[in-house]
Amino acid sequence: MSMTFAGHVAVVTGAGAGIGRAAALAFAAQGLKVVVADLDTAGGVGTAEQIMAAGGTAVFMQCDVTLEADVKQLMAETINLYGRLDYAFNNAGIEIEHGRLADGTQDEFDAIMGVNVKGVWLCMKYQLPLMLAQGGGAIVNTASVAGLGAAPKMSIYSASKHAVIGLTRSAAIEYARKHIRVNAVCPAVIDTDMFRRAYELDPRKADYAAAVHPVGRIGTVEEVASAVLYLCSDGAAFTTGHALAVDGGAMAI
Ligand code: NAD
Repeated sequence: MSMTFAGHVAVVTGAGAGIGRAAALAFAAQGLKVVVADLDTAGGVGTAEQIMAAGGTAVFMQCDVTLEADVKQLMAETINLYGRLDYAFNNAGIEIEHGRLADGTQDEFDAIMGVNVKGVWLCMKYQLPLMLAQGGGAIVNTASVAGLGAAPKMSIYSASKHAVIGLTRSAAIEYARKHIRVNAVCPAVIDTDMFRRAYELDPRKADYAAAVHPVGRIGTVEEVASAVLYLCSDGAAFTTGHALAVDGGAMAI
């Protein structure tokens, strides 16, 4: 597979931890200049420092993806600094386990939808015109297997990730003739802080999580990052509007 990334520019949101950090490191290892965006300054600075310590090019930009002014500024500063935007990985997301549907609260609904749906929409809203102006690009949004099927006790999260796939598919069709590809990755359970927070109270849940994947284990952040790089690469030139499960076979059951 050809990876012709050198000299190109990528923005990664939620890059201060977990999947986003792994993707930022992977982009940088391919020679891209990486804009590390996160709400959390310590995490974001940490990612940028890791990239630079390995000889890569990165800058941290603080951004709350739920705020239009922040997202607009993130994209404008990317252009000011690096002059272009080739790839975007819109990955910032939150998960709240709220029990059965009737037990969820309006605050939980607004929080989850705000980051997971509005955040991805705002990012694409300000990325697509830049990619249009320079003649192309590729966007990958983080959905989830919860966006492909049900997620009991997490119905709002599941709805938010279905919405990410809806935004992805619609944008893919709208911009297909403009050389901009838009895809989604749909991880199953991946070993990140998000996973550890959910399972630390009950270690038996971790065993259960491993067992629901036919491969018999949960996934790694590097495995999601390599799917993101594939979707951005020329190797995926004919792939757009796709929701790629990175799930150890879970959706095949
Ligand atoms: P994580 O909690 O380890 O990292 C998420 C990052 O997003 C953090 O650095 C956090 O500061 C940042 N963030 C949160 N709200 C933000 C906001 N408003 N603006 C900017 N940044 C914000 O989580 P992760 O597991 O790496 O998850 C990344 C993505 O993958 C999320 O969209 C999540 O829904 C999705 N996902 C995760 C799993 C999993 O098992 N970990 C599975 C499927 C999908």
